[in-house]
Amino acid sequence: MEIQAKKKFGQNFISDPNLINRIVDLIPNDPNSLVIEIGPGTGALTKLLVQKFNKVIAIEIDEDLIPILNRDINSPNFKIVNQDVLTIDFQSLIENEKENPQQNVYLISNMPYYITSEILFRTFEASKQMKKAIFMMQKEVATRLIAHENENNYNNLSVAADFYADKKYEFTVNKNKFKPIPKVDSAIVSLTFWDKYQNKLNGDDQEFIGFVRKLFNNRRKTILNNLTNITNNKEVSKNILDQAKIKESLRPENISTQEYINLFKIFKG
Ligand code: SAM
Repeated sequence: MEIQAKKKFGQNFISDPNLINRIVDLIPNDPNSLVIEIGPGTGALTKLLVQKFNKVIAIEIDEDLIPILNRDINSPNFKIVNQDVLTIDFQSLIENEKENPQQNVYLISNMPYYITSEILFRTFEASKQMKKAIFMMQKEVATRLIAHENENNYNNLSVAADFYADKKYEFTVNKNKFKPIPKVDSAIVSLTFWDKYQNKLNGDDQEFIGFVRKLFNNRRKTILNNLTNITNNKEVSKNILDQAKIKESLRPENISTQEYINLFKIFKG
């Protein structure tokens, strides 16, 4: 029976076996891993995941898909959570489902595009418990996510992604590979989580991410202007930038993750 895709849930299904293999192959071939999938849909990726890994948990909001997944994927390795992913507490889920402390955790999703940023930020929050995430997203969002300073499209999402992960644009996926066909092409991005920067902030990560977001509020304005919107005092802002050795005439897009960290630490005092 043909499934009617629901627009409100961002449903665009894939079925090309080569594409499915290419995506799933981005997870290291360790059968003992715990793999969490967001939005299994009709199970395109899930079926292969269940063959390759000992434990797969799929989070799906659409209750109409649950009987189909249960019918097609009959395996003790597989568990469905019928819930909105934005209400999932990833840290508790992982703690409860991990079979041993050494078990590696991977996240994979052909994302529902209407909540791409929300999923990304929730993933970052739980990133200490995960090795790697593999995400399909709109190509345009992917180019922003993987950008570095002084590159086109660099924004607060690029800084957040770099803060938490070694980010990589894996490959572009033509829109014709989906059913129904969306308006734009997509891309696969992998995020291999690291602690390159996190240990420098003593747990103020979320505050730092919020601070960077505010500094990008007016991309075309100088960092001095953006910082002054937070401090409400130009002289104070000049002083902070001076201490951080950041030129006040630079734009938010010219500043690296490490420089944002320096700035944040001086701002916090
Ligand atoms: N994985 C399937 C595939 O690749 O063919 C489906 C991908 S489709 C782009 C996105 C999936 O996410 C759909 O199954 C949709 O129902 C599900 N979804 C949408 N919003 C969700 C939410 N808030 N929480 C969990 N799943 C959601």
